Amino acid sequence: MATKIGLEIHVQLKTNTKMFCECNTNFLDAKPNTLICPICTAQPGSKPMGINERALELALKTALLLGCKINTGKELFVERKHYFYPDLPANYQRTSRPFAVEGELYGVRIREVHFEEDPGRYELRTGEVDYNRSGIPLIEIVTEPDMKTPKEARDFLKKMKTVIEYLDAAKPEGGLFKVDANISTDGNERVEVKNINSIKGVLKALCFEEIRQKNLARQGTPIKKMETRHFEDTQMITTFLREKETGDDYRFLPDPDIPPLEISAESVEKLKQDLPETPTTKAKRLKEEYRIPKLEADTIASERDLADAFEKVAGKVNAKFASKWFVNHLKRELNFRTKTFIESKLSTKEITKLLTALEKRSITKHTGVDILRKMLDEQVSAKAILEEHGGKAGFDVDSIAKEVMLENKKAAEDYRAGKTESLNFLVGKVMAKTKGRLEPKQCIEAVKKGLEK
Ligand SMILES: [Zn+2]
Repeated sequence: MATKIGLEIHVQLKTNTKMFCECNTNFLDAKPNTLICPICTAQPGSKPMGINERALELALKTALLLGCKINTGKELFVERKHYFYPDLPANYQRTSRPFAVEGELYGVRIREVHFEEDPGRYELRTGEVDYNRSGIPLIEIVTEPDMKTPKEARDFLKKMKTVIEYLDAAKPEGGLFKVDANISTDGNERVEVKNINSIKGVLKALCFEEIRQKNLARQGTPIKKMETRHFEDTQMITTFLREKETGDDYRFLPDPDIPPLEISAESVEKLKQDLPETPTTKAKRLKEEYRIPKLEADTIASERDLADAFEKVAGKVNAKFASKWFVNHLKRELNFRTKTFIESKLSTKEITKLLTALEKRSITKHTGVDILRKMLDEQVSAKAILEEHGGKAGFDVDSIAKEVMLENKKAAEDYRAGKTESLNFLVGKVMAKTKGRLEPKQCIEAVKKGLEK
């Protein structure tokens, strides 16, 4: 039996209001406990409002993009999951029965998707509680244990993240994901690592856990009882939390305040018409529409914003050239800085300027990359750097070559008379005028072109 990994992925949905009340969900810049009301702090006598329609729509669309079947025509109860913790004022968390099942994404089966509401935030060190997040709608996506290595789990999460970004369904300030990861290795019972906040964290936690479990089995003391562990972000290790609780421990009960949800087949059909492209369908379209290689299309489609930018730029410069440049330079420089396109704050207008200069060969590839790096690291505009590199539109190598011919008529005539060394002299002049910022090949071509006339 090899290593088996399953994931429970929590995604905070991008809604303006909370799940069962009308409190604002923009908790990032808010002072603690300013986005609250009697409902999301579970005051006595308060009753929840109906399920947030926008949250339901985003949740269903996400499930559809994950290839799930929607549980239509059934009464889906919202249940109370009981446990005590200071961040949970009602002492229960509302969680729905699965509204979607049996999906698949890149070969990993999705077991189910259900709703939850986010608890508040409890600061263990100070004992302070902030209920601004209490009641924010979440979905939990549960996979089957289909991943065999920590790296596979990481790659799957990256792909899942892209799908959710395409739908624009998640609140990015929520870190996009909170993951609980289940892992079992040879001879050991399953271990659940709770509350990992980043994709990198998932990889680290699983790598640590895989080695720990294998060592235990080797020493003849395998894990006999399912256990729950906590991931220590700063030390990159997992620590024992408790023996795994079972469903019974939570005493799930249908919430009497919320009528069961019933999703109609018609409403699902309607949502299907309104689904955005997925990374896979977008890559396919880019490949066909712009006639670019599959690998390039896949890379460009790996970020929705990068793909949008590519399409804007490809309308202005040669698409094949733009595609190569996006993949070989832009994406590479972004990866090097572990930035996404949107985080880089690059504008498509600026990229177009840079690529136009490159396409016209008024700057070298090397200079182009230098300019891109400056745009990324110093937030300077392409226009400003291009001007510094030779006039508003960069160098016009052909007119410079013409100028050189006029200034060096003797050398030009010598060349025409068969004195080939004169070519080097003229090219040297052109290179000096362009301050060495053009490729020698470009200068030679321009001089030869000028000499033919
Ligand atoms: Zn509220």
